[in-house]
Formats: sequence, C-alpha cells, structure tokens
Amino acid sequence: MGSSYTRSGVFAVSAPSGAGKTTLNSRLARSHPDIEISVSLTTRNRRPGEVDGQHYHFVDRAEFQKNVDAGRMLEWAEVFGNLYGTSKSEVERITGKGHKVILEIDVQGWRTAKPKLPGALSIFILPPSMADLWERLEKRGTDSPEVCWRRFKAARDEIAAGRIYDYFIVNDDLDRAYAELEAMIARDEPGKTSGEAGKALCDRLLTEFEHSQKILELKTIHEKI
Ligand code: 5GP
Repeated sequence: MGSSYTRSGVFAVSAPSGAGKTTLNSRLARSHPDIEISVSLTTRNRRPGEVDGQHYHFVDRAEFQKNVDAGRMLEWAEVFGNLYGTSKSEVERITGKGHKVILEIDVQGWRTAKPKLPGALSIFILPPSMADLWERLEKRGTDSPEVCWRRFKAARDEIAAGRIYDYFIVNDDLDRAYAELEAMIARDEPGKTSGEAGKALCDRLLTEFEHSQKILELKTIHEKI
C-alpha cells in the first residue's frame, strides 16, 4: 500500500440512505476542485441520469469478481443485493495528484477499509430523527414502499454500527451540515461531534426506532404483523 494512504487527505463519508450524503459530498466536490469523490465499481443497474465512469463504473458480476480476485479492490461490500467497491487505483489516481479523496462507502466497506487507511478521517452523517429519515426516503420517490422499509431497517443497522466513525454530523439543516463537512474536509478542522457525544446521537436514534409510535405503526404496515 502506497504511503499516500497514511497521510490525511483520505476521507470516508457514510450515512444511511436518505440522510443527504450524496447532496453534501457533491456540493463539496463542486466547490473545491482539489476534493474528488472516488468513483466506485458497482454491479447495480444504471439509474436515469447516471453516467458510466462519472457516478460509478457500471460492471457485471464477473467483471467485479475479476477485480476482487486480482487484488485490485481496497474494499467491497454487498449493499441491497448489489456489489459496490473502491479500487486501489482510483484512490491512488486522486491522491497522486495531491487531491483529497472522499470515499462514499457504506459501514461494512469502511469496516474493511479502516485498518488499511490509518491516516484517513471518517465521518458519519445522521438524520435529525428516524421519523425525518422515513419521510425523506418516501419523498425521494425512487423506491417502492417495500424497498423504502428495507432501506429504513438497514439504516437502523448502520446507525447501530456507527460508533466506528471519528466524527458525526446531524443533517438537520443542509447549509449547517455542509458548513461542518466543509470545515473538516476542505480546511482540516476538527469535527464538532465525536466519541461519547456521537455514540449518544446514535443511541437516541436507535431508541426512537424501537419505541416511537409512528415507527411501530410503519412496522405493522410493512411487515404485516
Ligand atoms: P446507491 O445505489 O444508492 O448509489 O448506493 C447504495 C449504497 O452503496 C450507499 O450506502 C453507498 O454509500 C454505498 N456505496 C457506494 N459505493 C460504494 C463502495 O465503493 N463501497 C462500499 N462499501 N459501499 C459503497
């Protein structure tokens, strides 16, 4: 592994789907030419408007597996039935230019990549509440109610594993959350929330998931109990 991995300049940004990670990261990369988002490989189908080589490298399972077998992947994971992964060469391409790189990866992916990237900083973006996250997933309109519910439950599991991150940002207001992310990545400032405070944020969301009346009602509907 190249020495470029051990200096700061590599950032992992994760969030449950619907928490606003893509919006925040894209804005950051647009405003700062020296910050790039790593383009992952995926086996999922291309969505309307997505460009191959820009949003993802869209490949079939055989091609993906070839990259894994050849040891070309820094990390990979199966997310909602599709394979996603970061290639070593993509991270090297960006850091090699002296640019900062954002890995937009899920929690499983970060768990694999973390020991290989000791100098990287990891940031977990959280929704202000689980009820808010549910609304965002539904409003996005890209998924059926069943898929929304599956993503929502996966969000719960991701938040439960969230304590492996260095810093936490609550996306209660897009501009405010953006300012926090920009300070950390563009200006190398320390984050505002870490450690026990971050864990407490995750715990509050998990408690809401288990006990809120609204979520219990959703569960009854979607799991037809
Ligand atoms: P989407 O299909 O909505 O673009 O992404 C689904 C999930 O896959 C998101 O949580 C995203 O962060 C994750 N993901 C995207 N690229 C990678 C990657 O290279 N590695 C891992 N582990 N997860 C990824």
